[in-house]
Amino acid sequence: MTELLPNYLGGQWSLGCGTGSTLLDPVLGTPLVRVDATGLDLDAGFAFARDVGGAALRALSYRERAALLGAAVKVLQANRDAYYEIATANSGTVKNDSAVDIDGGIFTLGTYAKLGESLGERQHLVDADMVRLGKDPLFQSQHVLVPTRGVALLINAFNFPSWGLWEKAAPALLSGVPVIVKPGTATAWLTQRMVQDVVNAGIFPPGALSVVCGSSAGLLDALQPLDVLSFTGSAETARLVRSHSAVAQHSVRVNIEADSLNSAFLLPGEDASSESFGLLVKEVVREMTVKSGQKCTAIRRVFVPETLYDAAAQAIAARLSSISVGNPRNDTVRMGSLVSRAQLQSVREGLQALQSQTDTLYDGANMPLVDADPAVACCVGPTLLGARNADAAAVVHAMEVFGPVATLLPYRSSDHALELIRRGQGSLVASIYGSDPQRLADTALALADSHGRVHSISPDVAASHTGHGNVMPQSRHGGPGRAGGGEELGGLRALGFYHRRSAVQASTSVLNLLRDSDAAPSP
Ligand code: NAP
Repeated sequence: MTELLPNYLGGQWSLGCGTGSTLLDPVLGTPLVRVDATGLDLDAGFAFARDVGGAALRALSYRERAALLGAAVKVLQANRDAYYEIATANSGTVKNDSAVDIDGGIFTLGTYAKLGESLGERQHLVDADMVRLGKDPLFQSQHVLVPTRGVALLINAFNFPSWGLWEKAAPALLSGVPVIVKPGTATAWLTQRMVQDVVNAGIFPPGALSVVCGSSAGLLDALQPLDVLSFTGSAETARLVRSHSAVAQHSVRVNIEADSLNSAFLLPGEDASSESFGLLVKEVVREMTVKSGQKCTAIRRVFVPETLYDAAAQAIAARLSSISVGNPRNDTVRMGSLVSRAQLQSVREGLQALQSQTDTLYDGANMPLVDADPAVACCVGPTLLGARNADAAAVVHAMEVFGPVATLLPYRSSDHALELIRRGQGSLVASIYGSDPQRLADTALALADSHGRVHSISPDVAASHTGHGNVMPQSRHGGPGRAGGGEELGGLRALGFYHRRSAVQASTSVLNLLRDSDAAPSP
């Protein structure tokens, strides 16, 4: 029997009393550890987080809480090697891909530690200036933001067990709100270990940071009116979460990060020898292969002028042909594994559905694996699809295949490309490639209403841009519509979700006390 990982809830470590789920090595097929949440007293655990953890966090200033985040960063950095081992074993990722999750998570936490320091010794934020409510200048309104007196339940997807944890927990804890994280089961080990290391280091007050691994059963039932729920996962689960009776009855504030059909768009006016063309090709290949395409922000649809369709297909295929796939422990392997047999099956089925309306321009799905048994390993090579009639390929604009798959689509005009991109019904990110600044600016604005982020790439930023799929804590993450309608990160903007805004109507002398208490301006 493999080791059963303990949960941390109610200020104590406890084992589930069921058989739980066994986490597997997706390359070797070997069992690693088990997780189980059966029998936990969720109501008591949530109450402890709310009453004990929340009170202790709220008693601190932003700067003091930022210092706790900074201390957690140090603990995580000291244990990085163990995290890489867990990622290799449980996520099947090569070192560079593990870094996106592990170091990306630690970097995000560190960013919030620095941002929090800038808020100083305050315990609330003010929102804009006071405003007169009538003729009398003495009676005014001042909006303030205070941390919610609830718990933040963080439910995460399997693909980012580290980054998914810290990109949510950092702004919550900095806001003064205790968190209970429930990781995606398939890769829960890394989340559990990171929380365990930070809890054992005694950094946060009891009840501030908790982890529940295994089934989500009962978690949403434990939510109360002032709690908040931040969810990342599929659109299907998101629908269940949104319509859960506790969420509906208590008006629990919910943030949803769901799936997305992200686009890359080579603007008109570029030819196959242009730097912009080369930048698009490079980024498409990177996005298809990093974490085997298991990124919510990965490029799924690639739009090029119709005259460049063949050239783009050849250039992308040529680069994909150098990608070796297999056991991440082998140094020659560039792309590791999907996370589970279930995901492998889902990618194969999705690919088949896309292929019913597309041509296969590069077929990596059946390529030989390096150091891995195809009967066991959840590895699959990259596949580039293409549809000469982009309008008719409806499935491409409707289905997210969560793996190393993208579809090349030709457009006739800029307006045609924008119309096709918008068929994604709201996405996390679009990247645009071109050399004309005015055209880049206009296109960014044209896409801004349907995308949480527009990544605009011109030759001058070729060496300095942060990548289409990389979520930087300084920029907003989340997209409208199909992408879930959520907003995360964006620097201090992220704190808004964990605060309550209230309008205080009072004499100017009272309101001055709220402002003079060294309150920070709102994010
Ligand atoms: P999922 O199956 O929807 O699961 C997401 C999380 O929800 C997991 O922790 C899961 O637990 C939990 N869950 C399942 N059923 C639930 C229920 N009835 N109530 C409450 N929680 C429940 O998604 P996934 O397969 O892990 O992740 C892949 C998807 O996530 C992709 O579609 C991807 O695009 C999306 N994603 C989006 C973002 C973003 O930021 N927008 C980031 C990463 C991934 P179990 O694991 O125990 O089932």
